Amino acid sequence: MIKVAIVGYGNLGRGVERALQQNADMELVGIYSRRDPSTVHTEGAPAYALAELEQQKGKIDVCILCGGSATDLPVQTPSLTKDFNTIDSFDTHAKIPEHFANVDQAAKENQTVSIISTGWDPGLFSLNRLYAESILPKGETYTFWGKGVSQGHSDALRRINGVADAIQYTIPKNEVIERLKAGETLELTTRDKHLRECFVVLADGAEEAAIKEEIVTMPNYFDEYDTIVHFISAEDLARDHQAMPHGGTVLRTGITHEQTKQVIEYNLQLESNPEFTASVLVAYARACARFAKEEQFGAFTVFDIPPKYLSSVEDATLRKELL
Ligand code: NDP
Repeated sequence: MIKVAIVGYGNLGRGVERALQQNADMELVGIYSRRDPSTVHTEGAPAYALAELEQQKGKIDVCILCGGSATDLPVQTPSLTKDFNTIDSFDTHAKIPEHFANVDQAAKENQTVSIISTGWDPGLFSLNRLYAESILPKGETYTFWGKGVSQGHSDALRRINGVADAIQYTIPKNEVIERLKAGETLELTTRDKHLRECFVVLADGAEEAAIKEEIVTMPNYFDEYDTIVHFISAEDLARDHQAMPHGGTVLRTGITHEQTKQVIEYNLQLESNPEFTASVLVAYARACARFAKEEQFGAFTVFDIPPKYLSSVEDATLRKELL
């Protein structure tokens, strides 16, 4: 049995609690939160204060870190890696090299293992970009996201004066994906690849036209996209927009000889982004425990993990049934 702790109990933490129930070789020891554990309502596992985690040193094989990428993980992953093997889903792409270096130092100094930035992007999408570009060195790689909720863009909408609540969906332009798959070579701008759809609840006294103008012209978030804005009631938002779907496509189009076209496509359609991301974390937790057993210490990413280490199935069976 691989003994696992969950650190941080938000959407992702809840997803890991559920994912662990699908994996018979894993045992959930407890959920550790910075909040008062009596206020953390889990789906059955015991909740403890994060300060108590230290006492479990040596008794937990892997801590699955479920904090946020903006401010939690840059601190929590290097710090907890001093005492535990860890996994995280750090997704601020531009800061991954810095995060990796910090975690690697903590892991090497303390003889622990950490696998950072797992999940689907970064994570499974990164792996598919690497496979595709290695196999088809001559070609183009495209990543399309959605349809799905963008937390960052939803937050940006909520910060507008006059917006009571809001959610934003990123929608890929499927006709563009189809043209690329058919072999067309396209010079794509940001606007060509994705559409942004916003559902906005106005605060009392706020004016639709002014808010819409502020949204569609917002630099970095919306000005480079075609953006659709719907104004809806708080009741409609609560009823129709609580799920957290996401997904996307990694596409590599290339040639292997003169006019011989090849297409590689990897697609995810997720009803729940956090539950899926959690399932990826749990599979990589298995690999993390194996690296620790083999005393391969340091920080790693999805690029470093042999695929069979994700599986609980024996090597010979994998060769027989999946190869
Ligand atoms: P949440 O905001 O739901 O949770 C983040 C942390 O906030 C929790 O660990 C928890 O820490 C704290 N928290 C949660 N609920 C509450 C509350 N009610 N009151 C106070 N604090 C609370 O984030 P998500 O779980 O949705 O996402 C976590 C991260 O996962 C994201 O930042 C993102 O970077 C990453 N992610 C990565 C993906 C990938 O493909 N690589 C895909 C999807 C997400 P505590 O219990 O200690 O208070």
